[in-house]
Amino acid sequence: MTQPGFHDLISDVQLRKAIDALGYEAPTPVQLAAIPAASQGKNLIVSSKTGSGKTAAFLLPAIQAMLARASVNPESTRMLILTPTRELARQIVKNAEQLLKFTSFKVGMVCGGEELKYQKAMLRKNPEVIVGTPGRLAEHVSHKSTEFSGLEFLVLDEADRMLDMGLSEDVLKIANTCRNERQTLLFSATMEQKGLRHLIKQVILGEAEEIYIDDKPNAIVQQMLIADDFKHKEKLLLALLQKADFQKAIIFTNTKVRATQLDNFLRYNKFRVGALHGDITQDQRKVTLDHFRQGRTSILVATDVAARGLDIPGVELVVNIDMAYSGDEYLHRVGRTGRADAEGRAVSMVDAKEWNLTKSIERYLGVTFEVIAMPGLKGKYQGPDKIKSSGKSVGTKKKTAVKDKKAEAKPKVKVRERDKKNIGNRRVPKALTEAPAVDGFAPPKKKISKQLDDGGE
Ligand code: AMP
Repeated sequence: MTQPGFHDLISDVQLRKAIDALGYEAPTPVQLAAIPAASQGKNLIVSSKTGSGKTAAFLLPAIQAMLARASVNPESTRMLILTPTRELARQIVKNAEQLLKFTSFKVGMVCGGEELKYQKAMLRKNPEVIVGTPGRLAEHVSHKSTEFSGLEFLVLDEADRMLDMGLSEDVLKIANTCRNERQTLLFSATMEQKGLRHLIKQVILGEAEEIYIDDKPNAIVQQMLIADDFKHKEKLLLALLQKADFQKAIIFTNTKVRATQLDNFLRYNKFRVGALHGDITQDQRKVTLDHFRQGRTSILVATDVAARGLDIPGVELVVNIDMAYSGDEYLHRVGRTGRADAEGRAVSMVDAKEWNLTKSIERYLGVTFEVIAMPGLKGKYQGPDKIKSSGKSVGTKKKTAVKDKKAEAKPKVKVRERDKKNIGNRRVPKALTEAPAVDGFAPPKKKISKQLDDGGE
């Protein structure tokens, strides 16, 4: 049986034109699963990550439904999308504008860091779709500058991150002002986030269908370099960057201080580099990202929070100079490469302190990182079990799993309220000792193992 195409899922001519203009040839697994279910009017709880095509998975069915009917209240927003960060909001707005190009619908963005009065003026024009971060939107709700009494679609994007960032109170405040008969579509990279089930119970009114998309980064070559200490890692990094074949690379550090240090180090070594971390201003951030997108810089040094949700084509290499704190964080980082079915490569530098964490991340993801070495830079530390480097050349690529383009999503229908183990949670390396198949969220028998990204944010 052939896999359904966009023509089977979307009948609206304007939307089809926009899909063609974007060059999307076939729906991604999350789109295949979510579009028909949302088009039937169902609430959805979708476990899927950034980069899997989830933005179009919620935008397409919602826009199609809204185009087909009159609004309930012309004064009210019709679709509200809540997302944890400004960067993600910007990307959703961009995608929404592309999909709405041949319609009369307008999109508005409401995030912190911009003047309230301009946002209020924009809101007075009643855009059909609003994308925003919960904090600023909650402020507008308090000021009554926006109206959700006729809301048809409420989307919670990266719900786990919103919880993580302490935004659930604002999310609930906003959700409580939305029309009860709305359809709610909730997306989360993981379902094990503490408090997520509680939030789901409060924002999803009525039955919901659960969709699990197993999108581990298996189109991405995942490797590790064993290191003695940070100085050794810097030397390995220089060798790697000189040898590796990439258009763009992102290097992740765990702290702002380290990001700045590495930025200077790479500049000193004549690399075209930019840095993204919590201390840079919004304007600097924009310039840094523009330069990286345009290819004026080829390397971005970033911390996790600063890089969340980045969707930049052509990132062929991700380096974890500090290993990620958890399996989920690792997925988010690695998901910056291999976007939308492109191939990518992730190299993690692991020292003695990070060894156990790395092994638990491997177990969590069900992969084994290929151990590589840089000629002449072998360190003293080779792992607790004297694991020998394979000595493979830097460019050697090895798939960690097979891509399965024909896999289908298998929706789960029941919402279970049982508490989940803390597997996959951030900064809890000890908990990462099992695969992420947790009660009620075990992958369906027919797994979707095709990977369009993220791995996220
Ligand atoms: P998202 O997960 O929504 O952030 O999407 C990740 C990237 O995949 C974005 O650049 C999208 O434009 C792109 N994308 C989404 N759906 C498709 C598709 N069906 N075919 C190709 N690219 C897609």
